[in-house]
Amino acid sequence: MSMSGFTENQLTVREAVSTVCAQFPNTYWQECDQNEQDPKEFHSALAKDGWLGIALPESILGGSGLGISEATMMMQTIAESGAGMQGAQSIHANVYATQPLAKFGTKHQLESTIPNIISGKWRVCFGVTEPNAGLDTLRLSTTAKKLPEGGWEVTGQKIWITCAQVASKMILLARTTPVEKVRQPGRGLSLFCIDLDRSQPGLELKRIKKMGGRGVDANEVFFENYRIPADSLVGEEDNGFKIILHGMNAERCLLAGEALGLGYAALAKAAEYARTRVVFQRPIGMNQAIAHPLADAYMKLEGAKLATYHAARLYDESRNDPSIRQDTVGVAANSAKYMAAEAAFTACERAVLTHGGMGYAVEYDVERWFRECLVPRIAPVSREMILNYISEKVLELPRSY
Ligand SMILES: Cc1cc2nc3c(=O)[nH]c(=O)nc-3n(C[C@H](O)[C@H](O)[C@H](O)COP(=O)(O)OP(=O)(O)OC[C@H]3O[C@@H](n4cnc5c(N)ncnc54)[C@H](O)[C@@H]3O)c2cc1C
Repeated sequence: MSMSGFTENQLTVREAVSTVCAQFPNTYWQECDQNEQDPKEFHSALAKDGWLGIALPESILGGSGLGISEATMMMQTIAESGAGMQGAQSIHANVYATQPLAKFGTKHQLESTIPNIISGKWRVCFGVTEPNAGLDTLRLSTTAKKLPEGGWEVTGQKIWITCAQVASKMILLARTTPVEKVRQPGRGLSLFCIDLDRSQPGLELKRIKKMGGRGVDANEVFFENYRIPADSLVGEEDNGFKIILHGMNAERCLLAGEALGLGYAALAKAAEYARTRVVFQRPIGMNQAIAHPLADAYMKLEGAKLATYHAARLYDESRNDPSIRQDTVGVAANSAKYMAAEAAFTACERAVLTHGGMGYAVEYDVERWFRECLVPRIAPVSREMILNYISEKVLELPRSY
């Protein structure tokens, strides 16, 4: 990847994070994936050097005060090191799901959680998706019922919750007012920061067998009258959807960075193989049928890179510049996530094909990255929903759903 045009902060982050990642070779990630083994040593190494607080303000205990532009670079560097989506996902929620907490949490909530998250003592998961709502987040049905004696009782089911097996905390979006009773469609959901206390009644986790990044657990989470204290509520009751919207553009940028890292890793490995693998007495890279698709994949990644860091910069600058509207940031962040995910897919697929039969062997890593490159196309928002969004918001076409 060309490194020209990045800021000094971004380059410093890239160099320092690369040094941490270098302790975790591809064989480490192969084993995590093959044995469904949590990369806890990797999480601890990043926490030890303070990286989990990269995008939290310095005023919040232990935060580095950098922006999403630097956090995106960190996530790209992690994925590009060979850790792929597996490495990125093992810390993703710690970086991202703490954003709404940092902005809307009370002093007590911040003091009692953030230092433990940054230090790596506690891991975090993000509980939004539900089996019966899908991408229609406003239809979430997991409820948090206020108890007369104080506190809340949570009942319902979440699905695809990454790291729930190892997390001590969940940032949970749950319904506090029935959908029929809300004044506006965006109201009625509330955000909570809760303990995942497996010794308490009413909480059950079920690990999902999945295609890639198998070291990082994904789960169904079942709540049945699960009690949480009154001070778990983050921000205003019934306003949780708006609160998480605040962090969604940041998450799109981080995901775009992760996809880019994966794509560049696959492309570098493919180019190396194409230079050295000799068939018909010449390197396979001499064949344009091999070289051109790799050149094409490179340009797609470079285009997506510009879109990604443009979106991250707009996100950061919009905090102090009211002339940068949030819908402008939204269009940029969604477009970047879409382009980076598509470019990563192209690069990972070409990397497998360039390796021929060896593309199918675990030892060469590209099969692992190919399995993982589907994730940024699906989550946290699918490519179809981004196309819907651009059609409606930019092209002013009628809403299709
Ligand atoms: C590896 C992984 C990790 C994840 N981690 C988390 C996590 O930590 N926390 C969390 O809360 N969630 C997580 N998710 C969930 C993820 O965000 C959702 O899977 C994603 O948002 C898609 O939702 P869905 O699976 O319910 O798809 P559905 O809503 O069921 O959609 C299925 C398909 O239909 C399409 N579709 C639906 N409606 C329309 C429409 N109107 N127009 C066009 N197409 C449409 C979608 O684009 C998609 O292709 C994770 C998912 C994966 C795969």
